[in-house]
Amino acid sequence: MTGGAGYIGSHTVYALLDRGDRVVVLDNLSTGVRAQVGTGAAFFQGDVADSALVNKIITDQQVDTVIHFAGSIVVPESVADPLAYYDNNVVKTRTLIQTVVEAGIKNFIFSSTATVYAEDAPQPLHEEAPRAPISPYARSKLMTEWMLEDVSRAHGLRYAILRYFNVAGADPQGRTGQSNPNATHLIKRAAMVALGRLPQLDIFGTDYPTPDGTGVRDYIHVTDLAAAHLLALDALRGGAGSTTYNVGYGRGLSVRQVVDAVEKVTGKPLPARVGPRRAGDPPTLISDPGRIKAALGWKPGHDGIDEIISSAIAWEKRFNR
Ligand code: UDP
Repeated sequence: MTGGAGYIGSHTVYALLDRGDRVVVLDNLSTGVRAQVGTGAAFFQGDVADSALVNKIITDQQVDTVIHFAGSIVVPESVADPLAYYDNNVVKTRTLIQTVVEAGIKNFIFSSTATVYAEDAPQPLHEEAPRAPISPYARSKLMTEWMLEDVSRAHGLRYAILRYFNVAGADPQGRTGQSNPNATHLIKRAAMVALGRLPQLDIFGTDYPTPDGTGVRDYIHVTDLAAAHLLALDALRGGAGSTTYNVGYGRGLSVRQVVDAVEKVTGKPLPARVGPRRAGDPPTLISDPGRIKAALGWKPGHDGIDEIISSAIAWEKRFNR
């Protein structure tokens, strides 16, 4: 697994260890946290484009599947420095895929994003909805999807591409969570405000064409997302063909609904300030999760927004005390 010290990767490491799988993590620790990699996993610090290292790990550890989480994920940063994003997310991944193919690996699981879809695509978003990513980040993800499609046709590598919706929350056992203090995600920021670590939450826009005017997103608990990777892994190992899956619940919540839920969970008002729209934010992103439910039997187990929020707050308290 690449990026196993990151937010979603570290939850997936625990999910795999919890069911007794052997896990090998490669992470350069540029944003990941070593202490969040479950102790049962073998850990290597290094770069996904270091072919000699990756090849040695694959051989020595008898790797049969690569789950590729490592990558840069900050949309505004990608707008400011697109070449860095194309390098880290596309060029390095191209090298990784080549190493993987040459080593004879059969299965590849890739982290993609709901932001590959066209802004005017019909909601909820089906996997076949038109793609028209706007940011360099989202484009770098779609480029990698295309590489995988082409490589799977040419060389037989089988893939599962998971397009994540809005991932939030933390491990219910408190072992890992979102650790980037600069993360700009709504639920992370709201948890920081609830704990007094930020003075107030900014609500980015109240004039969207949504029921209450604020942005609507499909927030999914990171534990349910980790479970989706395990199901995709089992399907590939069982011979399933290459497939792209949305991973979201199919439920939209507005910023105001999230604020209300935080107030309910904490029993306190959440200081919030209404401001202008944030550049590039679409009004609504909601998944059609029909494919992953039908094909992999994926079932949300932690979809209550209260549970998502309380786990995020619990981790925030534990982390960075
Ligand atoms: N948002 C907000 N205040 C914040 C962070 C986010 O109002 O401090 C809104 C944002 O405009 C969007 C939704 O919350 O409508 C989710 O944003 P987030 O950054 O969590 O995820 P994105 O959908 O941008 O990947």
